[in-house]
Amino acid sequence: MIQSSKKQALSRYRQQARAVQAERQVLESALMGTEALVEGCLVVVRTVCGKAGCRCRTSRRRRHGPYLHLSLLRNGKTRMIHLPRQWEEAAREGVEAARRFRRAHQQWRALNRRMENLWRQVERNRRYLPYEPKKKSR
Ligand SMILES: [Zn+2]
Repeated sequence: MIQSSKKQALSRYRQQARAVQAERQVLESALMGTEALVEGCLVVVRTVCGKAGCRCRTSRRRRHGPYLHLSLLRNGKTRMIHLPRQWEEAAREGVEAARRFRRAHQQWRALNRRMENLWRQVERNRRYLPYEPKKKSR
C-alpha cells in the first residue's frame, strides 16, 4: 500500500496535471489555427525623393507618404519591403497573428516544463517498496 501522505500528495499533483492539460489544450487549438503568419514588423516610412525643389525637402511633415513597410531580419541584415495599399490589411493581420502564435508557443513550452515536473512528482509519490528487507542487527 502507498502511505496516506503520499496519496494526498498524489491527488494534489494529479489535480494540477489536469489543470495544466486543460490550459495546454486551449493553447494548442490557438496554435493550430490557419491564419497566415507574417514575419517581421510594420514600419511607417515618410520619404524624401530625388527631385530638386520638391516639397518633401522643405520639412519633415511634407515628406512623401506615409508608406507602410515590412521590416525583416534576413541573414543578420534588416530588409525593408514596401507594402502596396491593398496588402496593408493582410500584413497587419498576419503580423498580429504571428505575434499571438509566438506568445502561445512560449506559454505552451512553459506548461510542458511544468508538466514534466508534475510527472516526476507523480512518479515519486507512486513509488513504494513491496518488500522491506529486515535490517541485520549487529
Ligand atoms: Zn519629393
